[in-house]
Amino acid sequence: MNKPAATTRKPHVRRVYWNEPEMGPWEKFYLFEIVRGLSITGGVFLRNMWKWCTGRKGAVTAYYPEEIRADYAKGNRGKHVLTQRPDGQPQCVACNMCATVCPAQCIEIDAAFDPTDAAHPKYPSRFEIDYSRCIFCGMCVEACPEDAIRMVKEVPNLPGNNRRSMWIKKDELLNWQPARDVAKPYPVAGGDQSLAKGHSK
Ligand code: SF4
Ligand code: SF4
Repeated sequence: MNKPAATTRKPHVRRVYWNEPEMGPWEKFYLFEIVRGLSITGGVFLRNMWKWCTGRKGAVTAYYPEEIRADYAKGNRGKHVLTQRPDGQPQCVACNMCATVCPAQCIEIDAAFDPTDAAHPKYPSRFEIDYSRCIFCGMCVEACPEDAIRMVKEVPNLPGNNRRSMWIKKDELLNWQPARDVAKPYPVAGGDQSLAKGHSK
């Protein structure tokens, strides 16, 4: 039987970038650079500590959760809002697309059936988001065919002493910052298929 031909591997040549750093003799000695780095870090630490000890604000950080920043960008993906129909019911039709696409698998929905509402027979009896796992990617918003879930710039109040408190439930998602799809007319609940003219905000 013939032996397979031995493969020859090219020696690895390290790529040279245009901005390769060049170290001088002091940097090559390392000890001086270590002392210089520690002195910069220590100086910033001591300056901030002095400001903090004398009642002034030190580092440019927000002391969360006591301080909540007011300057989040308009497009910040903060907390979710479930939008409402004109009658206050959720626009959500419990299709589960948001829960399916969610990479963190942190949306849980129980679908229910309302035979008295021919226009929207399927609705979420439970809609919860686990903020201990949400990565604020916004894919749930992108996936929703009903504009039933949005994200607003305000952030959820997450600090708590257990993970269960980080589950946000349907009522809070619906009512903490009520929003509607103003562009879309919705059929009135109760089987009347005529469009709810004049109900949109
Ligand atoms: S923002 Fe991303 S991780 Fe959070 S619930 Fe939506 S899809 Fe899931
Ligand atoms: S929020 Fe949107 S995507 Fe999620 S279940 Fe409701 S209708 Fe479907």
